[in-house]
Formats: sequence, C-alpha cells, structure tokens
Amino acid sequence: MAHEVRGVVAREVGAPVSLETVLVPDPGPEEVLVRVQACGVCHTDLHYREGGINNEFPFLLGHEAAGTVEAVGAGVSNVAAGDYVVLAWRAPCGTCRSCRRGRPWYCFDSRNAAQPMTLADGTRLAPALGIGAFAELTLVAAGQAVKIDRRARPEAAGLIGCGIMAGFGAAVNTGEVTRGDSVAVIGCGGVGNAAIAGAVIAGARLVIGVDVDPRKLEWARHFGASHTINSRETDPVQAIRDLTDGFGADLVVEAVGRPETYRQAFDARDLAGRLVQVGVPTPEMMIELPLIELFGRGGSLKSSWYGDCLPSRDFPLLIDLYLQGKLDLDGFVTETIGIGEVEEAFHKMERGEVLRSVVVLTSG
Ligand SMILES: [Zn+2]
Ligand SMILES: [Zn+2]
Repeated sequence: MAHEVRGVVAREVGAPVSLETVLVPDPGPEEVLVRVQACGVCHTDLHYREGGINNEFPFLLGHEAAGTVEAVGAGVSNVAAGDYVVLAWRAPCGTCRSCRRGRPWYCFDSRNAAQPMTLADGTRLAPALGIGAFAELTLVAAGQAVKIDRRARPEAAGLIGCGIMAGFGAAVNTGEVTRGDSVAVIGCGGVGNAAIAGAVIAGARLVIGVDVDPRKLEWARHFGASHTINSRETDPVQAIRDLTDGFGADLVVEAVGRPETYRQAFDARDLAGRLVQVGVPTPEMMIELPLIELFGRGGSLKSSWYGDCLPSRDFPLLIDLYLQGKLDLDGFVTETIGIGEVEEAFHKMERGEVLRSVVVLTSG
C-alpha cells in the first residue's frame, strides 16, 4: 500500500518548488519508512532545483532530517518501528572495494531505497541525496536510518544528517585536528561553522574564521572562533600568517568551493600543513598552482566527502556532544518554518540571512 503525503517537489530547472501529493510505498526488504519530524533547508536542495546536481527532475527535496521509524521491511535489524532516527545519505554497502578494505566512510556504492516514491500520476521522483525528507513520510534504505538519543529535539538533531556532519568531519575526520593545532576556516556558513565547532572540541588552540559577511563572522565567534577575518577588508592569507607567528595555519578548511578561496587556503598553510576542501565547486571552475610550492610546502591537500563520516559511528557521537552542551546544534537553527515555506527559505539562504531554516512537519 502506498501512503499519500505532502512533499516539496522541484519540477524543472529554476522554477519555484511546489507542494505536491507524493505516494510513498510501504517498506520492502532492507527498507525503512520514516515519519519525518523536522528537516533543514540546505544549499544542496537549492542546487538540485537549479539543475546543478543532475537533470533527473522532478526531485523530492529535503535531506537533513530527524524522525520516527514508522515501519521496517524484511531483513532490517538496525532499527525498529518507533525508533528515533537521523537520516544519512551514506549507508555503506559492506561489499564495494572501499568497504572491503575497511574504509566504509568512502563507500562507493552507498545504499538507497529500491522502490521509488512517485507523484500521484505515477511519475517517479528522484529524492535529494537519496533521502527526500521535505515530506511527511519518506522511504530510505535501512542503513540510512541511524538511531539516536530521543532527548535531542528533531529541529536540531536532523541537521547532523548533512551540513554539520560535513563541516565537523572535515575538521575532525579528514583534517585530523589535534590538541594544539592552529586552524583556519574559510567560509562561515553552516558547514564552516560546524568545522569551527569541531576544531574547538578537538582541542585546537587557535581557530580563525574567514568570511566576507560580518554576520557570518559573528556566527563564527559564537561557535568558538578565537579570531575572525573579514576577507573583503583584509588579505586573509597575511592575516592568518600574522596570527600564527608568520607561519600559517596547521589546517585550513576551505568551505566555499571557489578557486580564489582554495588558493587562499593553499597559501595560508604552514609548512607541512593540511588543506581540506569541503566547499563544493561547479564544473567550470579551474585552479592553477605553482608546482614547486605544491611540492615544497609539503603537507596534504584533501577533499572531504560528507566529512568522511561513518553515520552509525558519528551521528550518536555528535548527539552526545549536543546533549552535553559541547556542540550547539540549536545555534544552527535560525528559524523553524512550515512545509509550504521552503521557496522563501531558499531566498533567505541566498541573502545569507540564515544558517538553517528548518521545516517542522506538524500533521500526523
Ligand atoms: Zn561500500
Ligand atoms: Zn545538505
């Protein structure tokens, strides 16, 4: 039996999203049906709507969600009906060449639900990042549902499913921040601020937030940046060197995804320093670097996919940090909105007015 619910759908490139009737099947083998309680509005949802991800319209948007397991299909053992979960867009398969080598956080064949969710006329929907959670119910692969502590409120908890995990993991998992490190984060939106919070928790002695927007620098200070640099007014490379005895930072996290900011990150590292790129570029962007410096500076240049996270390991950890008051997930929730207000939330996001608008699903 298919369940009839409301969902936020992007029908064509650039067109405003619309609230549509969505048919969600009962879970088949290895699938889980989740009643969504809250879902954050992320830049990636907007990228889908703009055709920046792929052309598989129509999309069912939404992917930073917390909710309750409504039903599970055959063979599901990691969660049961009634469990409180956060949805992940990485569900390691266990059998790809990366999983088999013991690196499931890179899994090259992540699982999604096998059955499609559709519009009322049967048109197949492509769920954003294999989730599709701006809907009252959604269908995911069992491994995408990660059980967490019920005391974490859904508006805050759902956000660890994407942007916060990506930023936190970029600093802590990919960047391997350790006690005494100096860390600079370029781009202080949701992902960048999560990287700042992660660096602080991991013991960095200096955390520098860089952005062109004073409001974002204020958020950076809130999440623990010891220093902030407005790169519209000041050369960030020089300013980072000035704050690190002239040397540069041990780790620079690039959370913008542009050639200019990548170059800043490259130049702002100390010798043997690390650069982690977590900002997502577009296909036409190119970068040119002096090969002698690439060699001569040593260290590492890495990219971070989803914070190199293992959701089943890292989601409960982030929720524990939240419940202990060490990770301010509530601070990322700028506002809560209804399911019909996603289009307006995109505009607020584009204007830089919010870290996250979070859709709260109210109807049962
Ligand atoms: Zn795999
Ligand atoms: Zn996202």
